[in-house]
Amino acid sequence: RPTSTSFIGLGRMGYQMALNLFSKQHLNANEASFIVCDAVPEAAQAFCSEFTSQYPEAQISIASTPAEAAFASSKIITMLPSSPQVKSVYNESIIPTLRKLHATSSADTLCIDSTTLDVSVAREVAASVVDTGAQMIDAPVSGGVSGAKAGTLSFLVGGTEECFIQAQPVLSLMGGRIIHCGPSGAGLAAKICNNLVLGVEQIVVAEAMLLGQSLGLNPAVLASVINSSTGGCWSSSTNNPVPSALPDKSPPCERDYEGGFATVLMLKDMGLASHVAEQYKSPLPLGEAAKEIYEEVAKTPDLANKDFSAVYRFLQQQSG
Ligand code: NAD
Repeated sequence: RPTSTSFIGLGRMGYQMALNLFSKQHLNANEASFIVCDAVPEAAQAFCSEFTSQYPEAQISIASTPAEAAFASSKIITMLPSSPQVKSVYNESIIPTLRKLHATSSADTLCIDSTTLDVSVAREVAASVVDTGAQMIDAPVSGGVSGAKAGTLSFLVGGTEECFIQAQPVLSLMGGRIIHCGPSGAGLAAKICNNLVLGVEQIVVAEAMLLGQSLGLNPAVLASVINSSTGGCWSSSTNNPVPSALPDKSPPCERDYEGGFATVLMLKDMGLASHVAEQYKSPLPLGEAAKEIYEEVAKTPDLANKDFSAVYRFLQQQSG
């Protein structure tokens, strides 16, 4: 009976989440064993090197395919870019393996997908997983790379009450708040609505910070006013896009907008919101405008893979 925990997708978020999860599982239960997998083999190798340098006695291995990881695991966590990757990793690799595994043994596999993707794709994939006899929840996250590193992410969970209870001890090793939003797909619905707010807010904070400086305000003074007033929000208080505007040096703007939430991923999330809004005929005037702005930012040389707060740099370039 498979017992390892697998983590598939060791990008900006997954790497930090897996580091927290595996470290705590290892410290809690010395016999725990771990598997990592990424389409870029160097990402899995870099993770293993870091993990084994911290815990030389830990049992960790690299799977060359998600199917190989699934074959040996009772818990599978995926953190992939979006719908196409989740579809291919599950439909072509994990689900056929689960089908074989559950047909021949008393395996009891739980799949946790933390990717932000289309609600209907997530529901279809979860239904196919359940069809094999395994279980699945959608558990997208909020809190960014800093929250992933600190182990303080919020998990927004969609799935049955039983799966939620089963997943809680795993999620609590990577996050601070774990919220059961409803049945399959509900975690993603909540995540898409949250990122709609975030995407719009980050643009308006960039606009205000730029305008304030044009009016002669010191960015640090303006940021402290916004952050202690009614305009305060995460985009200003934690992810302020202007270097030196915050007392701490943690926002991505302090590292040339590297290492945060890529503009292309924010554009993807605005696209997910736009897609469901159209399906359900829910008006999205600001969301659509924000999506168009991120489209422009993503087309700007060098900005597509920078943190989405680089919208500030885009507006700066617009202002000449
Ligand atoms: P990323 O692009 O840095 O990481 C994705 C990883 O998946 C990469 O390492 C890639 O090689 C791997 N991958 C792609 N296809 C694969 C496959 N077929 N098999 C195995 N591995 C594969 O993205 P990220 O920033 O870590 O974001 C991951 C997800 O989390 C996205 O859905 C994003 O919207 C969401 N998210 C990101 C943030 C953030 O701040 N970065 C915050 C909240 C949510």
